[in-house]
Amino acid sequence: MLPPIANRFVAGESPATALEHVRRLNERDIAGIVNHLGEHYDDRESVRADAAEYRALARDIAASDLQACISVKPSQLGLDLGEDLFRETVTNVVDAAAAEDVFVWIDMEDHTTTDATLDAFEELAREHEGGVGVCVQANLERTREDVERLADVPGKVRFVKGAYDEPADIAYRDGDQIDREYESLLEYAFERYDGGVAVGSHDPAMIEHAIDCHERYGTDFEIQMLMGVREDAQNDLAAEYPVYQYVPYGNRWKSYFYRRLTERTGNVRFALRALLDR
Ligand code: FAD
Repeated sequence: MLPPIANRFVAGESPATALEHVRRLNERDIAGIVNHLGEHYDDRESVRADAAEYRALARDIAASDLQACISVKPSQLGLDLGEDLFRETVTNVVDAAAAEDVFVWIDMEDHTTTDATLDAFEELAREHEGGVGVCVQANLERTREDVERLADVPGKVRFVKGAYDEPADIAYRDGDQIDREYESLLEYAFERYDGGVAVGSHDPAMIEHAIDCHERYGTDFEIQMLMGVREDAQNDLAAEYPVYQYVPYGNRWKSYFYRRLTERTGNVRFALRALLDR
């Protein structure tokens, strides 16, 4: 069972607990992006099981009338076992979700996966117009070109700073430089995209910049944040703009939870306080 200390960042172990969390979010005018935790599978069984889980999740979302979509990781859908398997599995999940009118985000993992992820996204986005989105990372130097390529693809794009520790010869490693790059990529996307822009950030300066771009260009956008991070800001922003919360669930919660904890000293303090209060 999920220990109480982890449930700030993870919605539980079952899809039912995740959808119950989304139901409560919807009451606050926040939509859910549901992710079944899992990555880097080296066996086909786990890939098949997670694909089946996502198909069932899409059916449950459609049947529940909730404001929710799903987000999948390429290495969860077989990319570590080969691009063919990933293509087959992600197509299968997106086809099933599209049949239920449920939107699918494809998360972006480290730079070795970028080409395969964008190629799969482009094909699926052309087939299911308005039904698929992909994430791009401002810390990678290549992203500027990728963002230009995606301007002609009929899908949504989520902009993030980038969560992976990438080599210095292909990535920006200085925080200020990543922020400037992030702002500049947003400016480009708001000016040129018509499929919609998603701002996956908790950084007030990046969100301000996105709102300013939205006001200048009128492009549709949404703000996306993680469960358990700046929840008050999520509530405030939801009064004026579309806000989505990324809601992970599943029994592989440990590595996700430790990543969130170690990202911020404030979160370690939160964990220690929770342990002392028990
Ligand atoms: P930061 O500069 O890291 O943080 C800005 C401020 O936000 C901080 O000062 C703090 O106040 C607050 N904050 C940020 N993180 C935390 C935290 N954990 N706990 C408490 N406060 C915090 N990355 C990928 O590489 N691929 C993906 O597919 C991907 N998908 C994402 C989807 C969503 C919805 C979100 C929100 C992020 C995603 N990320 C992804 C992660 C992203 O790349 C960043 O690593 C992460 O969002 C932290 O960057 P930031 O923009 O929030 O800004």
